[in-house]
Amino acid sequence: MLKSKLLVVHSLQEDLATVIEKVVSLHKKHGPFTSCLVLGEISDTFNELESRIFPDSDNLPQLFLLENKLFEESGSRVLKNGVKILGGIGVFEFSNGIRLGYNTISSSELTSKKNEILSQFSKNTSKVDLLITKEWSVSISHRENSLGGNEVIDKLNKIFEPRYHFSYKYTQTFLELKPFLWPDSDRITRFMNIAAYNSGSKWAYAFELDLTSTLPLNLSSLTSNPYMDIIKKRKLDGNNASNKLSANNQLNNTMQETHPIKKPKIVLPTDCHFCFTNSNIQDHMIIYIGSLAYLTIARGPLTTPKGEMGFSGHCLVVPIEHKAKLRTKHENDFTASTNLDIEMLQLEKSVVAMNFLKFEMCTVSFEIQSEKSFHFHKQIFPVPKYCIMKFKDSLDRQLYMNNEKYTKNTNLTFSLFHSNTDKEYEALVTNPLVNYLQFTVYETPSSSKLYLAQFDPEDRIDLQFGRRVLAYMLNLPRRVRWDSSICNQTRKQEENEVNLFQKAYKDFEPSI
Ligand SMILES: [Zn+2]
Repeated sequence: MLKSKLLVVHSLQEDLATVIEKVVSLHKKHGPFTSCLVLGEISDTFNELESRIFPDSDNLPQLFLLENKLFEESGSRVLKNGVKILGGIGVFEFSNGIRLGYNTISSSELTSKKNEILSQFSKNTSKVDLLITKEWSVSISHRENSLGGNEVIDKLNKIFEPRYHFSYKYTQTFLELKPFLWPDSDRITRFMNIAAYNSGSKWAYAFELDLTSTLPLNLSSLTSNPYMDIIKKRKLDGNNASNKLSANNQLNNTMQETHPIKKPKIVLPTDCHFCFTNSNIQDHMIIYIGSLAYLTIARGPLTTPKGEMGFSGHCLVVPIEHKAKLRTKHENDFTASTNLDIEMLQLEKSVVAMNFLKFEMCTVSFEIQSEKSFHFHKQIFPVPKYCIMKFKDSLDRQLYMNNEKYTKNTNLTFSLFHSNTDKEYEALVTNPLVNYLQFTVYETPSSSKLYLAQFDPEDRIDLQFGRRVLAYMLNLPRRVRWDSSICNQTRKQEENEVNLFQKAYKDFEPSI
């Protein structure tokens, strides 16, 4: 069989039963599909699933589910009801010849076992038709202006040249790249991140896989291949070119016209999650709007309600203007930045005061000031008084992990300042050329310690570093990732958070 109709869906653990019901109706309405791949971290519900789905059901396509496994435990298995489970890393071949590569290994294990994993797959260089990975590759992350990604995924793409690469790293976002070409094989890859069911974004993707597909007629519909180093790319000799090489030449010319390689991607304020000009802005999450900055609850909050505080309390202070960092090197006059700095600090301190006076909580804020950011913001976390002493130990522990254990990101060294009027501190933060990470630890509203680490804008930094330190300090290891299912909140829950926050914050709102 050369053509197959397939369905790919993404489910959070708690939605799996509903998603399977949706698959039944999609199968009936738009199918029949030969197979359905269910992406997501859903392993915990397999036992329940085993009793719910009957074998050989005509209502369902062949289901493939993923489970998290260690590299050594990789492989596929079949539940009693015929559902196929894929875990770890491997290649599964369908009876009709379709080859599916999959990887559910955690990013940290991918990095630590990189050589073993790659040596296993370099021996087996057959291409795959479909590739499923939780993580994105570094190349695609960079193209989308994100600092994440795992280089093993880059290598797997180069080995497998998949026709479709599906990722489920971001549960709230559907993203589809324009297809790109592998010139040596004429294969075309389509990459997409499928959002989770109930996220409001596209969570199901149906397509017909045609194993005979070749170059599309319209070459301008392609984008440049993110895995090919444009500088090292071999020069194509027009005189001796075969038909295939001519096609590539033509492709390269087309790409240079439509996609200048050097030009960095610009995120327009209309696409930015923090800009009011974005028509999709989640305005139900906003707590308070000042004149230069606003306060919003965090999506997928780290902290949970504690004691008197009936809401998560994790919030963000965001400038209204679209800005990468507080002071950029493009500014001639820093008056506006200074005013913004003052107002953001005022908002931050009003939350610190609420946490302390109303809920007997301390506060830690975290910010990244990088010219490579989109729209900077400060994250504010309420911290129980008995935990605040653990800050330095938690920071040291995460620094050890960052600097010694997972050396993918650049090394960080923090300096401690006891006041934001410290001369050395002021000189650093008012210098537009300095890029830095900063924690502000408020034991009380009037006493703060500032921990600042500089970095080079070309360095790769762990954007989740702040959240990691706080998660360790608050003993919330399962809530490290904002987009994990445990942190996910429905719109109704978010509205409730805002409501409770606003009630408590009323007495502390600054007069801006
Ligand atoms: Zn913005």
